[in-house]
This record gives sequence, structure tokens and C-alpha cells, in this order.
Amino acid sequence: MGQFKLKITNQAQIERLYLLPLVYDQRGGLSHLAASMAPAAARMSLLCPLPSSPSSPPSSNIPYIRTLSQSPASRFQFRSLRSLDRFQPARATLAVDSPASDRSGVDSGSGKVLLEVKDLKAVIAETRQTVLRGINLTVREGEVHAIMGKNGSGKSTFSKVLVGHPDYEVVGGSVEFRGENLLEMDPEERSHGGLFMSFQSPIEIPGVSNIDFLQMACNARRKKRGLPELSPIEFFGFLQPKLATVNMDPKFLNRNVNEGFSGGEKKRNEILQLAVLEADLAILDEIDSGLDVDAMQDVAKAVNALLTPTNSVLMITHYRRLLDFVAPTFIHVMENGRIIRTGDLSLADQLEREGYRGISAV
Ligand code: ADP
Ligand code: MG
Repeated sequence: MGQFKLKITNQAQIERLYLLPLVYDQRGGLSHLAASMAPAAARMSLLCPLPSSPSSPPSSNIPYIRTLSQSPASRFQFRSLRSLDRFQPARATLAVDSPASDRSGVDSGSGKVLLEVKDLKAVIAETRQTVLRGINLTVREGEVHAIMGKNGSGKSTFSKVLVGHPDYEVVGGSVEFRGENLLEMDPEERSHGGLFMSFQSPIEIPGVSNIDFLQMACNARRKKRGLPELSPIEFFGFLQPKLATVNMDPKFLNRNVNEGFSGGEKKRNEILQLAVLEADLAILDEIDSGLDVDAMQDVAKAVNALLTPTNSVLMITHYRRLLDFVAPTFIHVMENGRIIRTGDLSLADQLEREGYRGISAV
């Protein structure tokens, strides 16, 4: 039984990670899952495509072993790949200039519609407090949208509702992603379908190595897209240029997901996950918060490097300075659960001059 030879530093964590899709299947309810799982596990269900759930319920009470035993050999190969010190730290050579700079302006609209949000209303499931009061937003391929707004205006709630967070219940409106009803999909399906959200405060997952986590998430999404899964060696080759893009030292692959990472390293790791998952729509919630200017520029460079004519970014930020590096096509201002203004970069300038009071709807 090769899998028993694996050295797992924190078995409970691994178990929870691998159990997740099974619990999901067995108990058949995301709300139950969210209530019973640690935030780390909930995050996975929301943000990273996990391996597909097994078709039959697990017969064993130690189902993680089944998952681990699927490819014990490949996991051992990973261990041997972990003498990563021989690889030079990847250096990004990208310019800070945004490739999106020519996207700026409110009159674009030629790309295919990726996300269409109409009159979206949502409440907090537990308290029934209304947070989103009718959001309208259209994101086309190749666009960068920035959402700004005072604390508590509903920005994070909006992004969490888009990925299917169980704390919230949609009570009105519609959301289509690539023409399909997003609200009917489970969080995992949304993730498999190409939606990614980075957390405002990325979660640490002790006992789960970064590279294992990335490979698992990557292969789960590849499978869904009908692409062959990557072996550990192939995956490492796939990962190398992505590490360079986010300017991340390969030594972070060996560490547990986000454990002991600085604020900037965590955000960089989020972007690495995004790069690996090759999401179509990346929702970045305050990717710049807690970062010094250098780290923010690095993160911005990485985001820019990931932009293609067919993917899009929805980024939430408090600060104008991020928009100097990742040029938005549109800027939206949220207030009290609604988008009250949409404009181009000049709207951010106005905010800087006049504050939110200057453009408030009330
Ligand atoms: P923003 O990201 O714009 O600062 P949020 O979306 O985080 O705002 O929050 C909007 C409002 O909803 C706030 O008043 C916040 O306290 C409340 N809220 C959001 N999520 C929850 C939750 N899970 N439980 C209780 N209140 C919540
Ligand atoms: Mg927020």
C-alpha cells in the first residue's frame, strides 16, 4: 500500500481536503458543507476545481485514502521534484505597462459577452438582511472592470454571490456566464466553467503542499475541458513560465498553501492559482490590500500578463494606484448594494478628488 508511505505532515488537513467532494456528494448540500467545513475547505469548493466527485458514494470511512491511492507513484515523483533549489528563482521580465491600456473607454463592447448580471438581488442567508439591491453589469471578453465603493457597500458580497458562496441567497435577478445560468450551478461547476475568485484574505492550509494543490486543481479543470491531465513532470513544465509570470520563487511550491506567507506572497500565490487554472473570468477582491508598492506592482504585472483578448478581470479595489498598473476598461462605483456610476479612469480621478460623497446617489 504505497500511499501509507507518504509523509503527511498534518493528516487531518489532507483528509479534509480530499474528503470535500465526497462530503459534498454524500450530504448533498452546499449549505451543509459550508456549515461543517473549515474555511479552508470551503474555499476549495468555491474557488478551485476539485477532482470530480466519485460516481458512487464512498464505502470506506477513510475515503481520502482512495483519492491518494489513485496516483501514489506520481505523488512520489513530486517528492523527488522537490529539490527545487536547483531551479533559479523565476524573474519576471514584463513591463508594468498594462496591455489593457488600449481597452480603456466606455464605448467598447465588441467582444462576446462573458458575464451578464441583471437586477441581481441577494440577502444574507442567515439573517435575511438585504445586501445586493439590484446589480446590473455586463462583462465582455477582454475587458477589465474595476469596482470601487465605500466599505460595506456590497463589493465582496457581489463577488461571493457570483462564485456561489452559501452565506448568501439570491432573491432576484439573473446571472449568465457564457450564456448559461450561473445561479443554477454549484460552486464547483462555476469554477470548472472558468470562474475564479481570489479572496480578500487568502486562507492558509497547513499540511497541504502548494504544488500538490495546484496540480490537483489544474488537472480537475483540464479534465472538465476535455484536456489530458498532466503528469507531475509535465505539470512542472507547465508551471515554470507561470512562476516567472508571477515572479514567484519556486521554493514556495514546497511550502504549505499560504502557510506563513507574507501578505504579498499570499496575493502572488492567488495569482499563481489563477494562472494555473487559466480562468476566463477572474474576480480579484482587493488584490492590492496590505501590499507595499513594489509587491502591488508585481501583482499588477502578473495580472496584466494573464490578460488575453478572451479572458476578463473584475477587480475590486479601494485605491486608484492599482488602476495605474492594471488599466480598467470600466470603473463602477457601488453604494448600498447597487452600481450607482460607471465610467472610465476619469471616474477614479473624480473619486480621488471628491471622495465618495461627491458621487453619492443619496
Ligand atoms: P464591501 O466588500 O463593499 O466592504 P461587503 O460585501 O463585505 O462590503 O459587506 C456588505 C454588508 O453586508 C456589510 O454591512 C457586511 O457587514 C454585511 N455582510 C456581508 N456578508 C455578511 C455575512 N456573511 N454575515 C453578516 N453580514 C454580512
Ligand atoms: Mg470587501
